[in-house]
Amino acid sequence: MRILIVEDEQKVANAIREGLEGEQYDVVAERTGEGAFFRTTTEEFDVILLDLGLPGRDGLEILRALRARGMKTPVLVLTARDALQDRVIGLDAGADDYMIKPFAFAELLARIRALVRRGRSAETSRLGIGDLDMNVVTRKVARGGHAVDLTVREFELLEYLLRHQGHVVSRETLARDVWKETARTTPLDNVIDVHIARLRRKVDADHGARLIHTVRGVGFMLREGEP
Ligand code: CA
Repeated sequence: MRILIVEDEQKVANAIREGLEGEQYDVVAERTGEGAFFRTTTEEFDVILLDLGLPGRDGLEILRALRARGMKTPVLVLTARDALQDRVIGLDAGADDYMIKPFAFAELLARIRALVRRGRSAETSRLGIGDLDMNVVTRKVARGGHAVDLTVREFELLEYLLRHQGHVVSRETLARDVWKETARTTPLDNVIDVHIARLRRKVDADHGARLIHTVRGVGFMLREGEP
């Protein structure tokens, strides 16, 4: 089990490292966001512990950059700032959990174990394609590391498309599986099209690569590149 600690305060980093090594974890420490970014391009970790207040590029910037690059490793944010805003921003940027310093070491261990377990069942908690990332547990969606704010229905629709990515999904299937409408006399086609259009504006607008494609006369397909 390999853990990366990104923390500029040497004393804190050493204390965490010693504690984790005592639990037989293999620990690597970086003091800067740049160092962490470089490290994760060449090495695999099971969990990353990320301090938000770092010199140079701060933890949030690094986290967004890593998620934009498609990194799926669970990230536990460590923050001295206990403002709710930081926590929200951290989760939006792609953090899986957060802890406010100072924290009890036993609590840190429990959180790490939970993240590793969740990471192992990643297909049930995280879905993604290209730089689009969905966490079905926290119900957060991000594209290129930036939060995408979706309504409940839009989220369900995108989740369905993600679970069937690379396959054509018909409007009938969406009506049945997302809208749970089987015996409806009026087709839901217009409703579905409106939701797809909104989802496109939120997910695909301002991005070079389109992910949601219309397959004329058949339905829709989520994939990278033209179908
Ligand atoms: Ca710090």
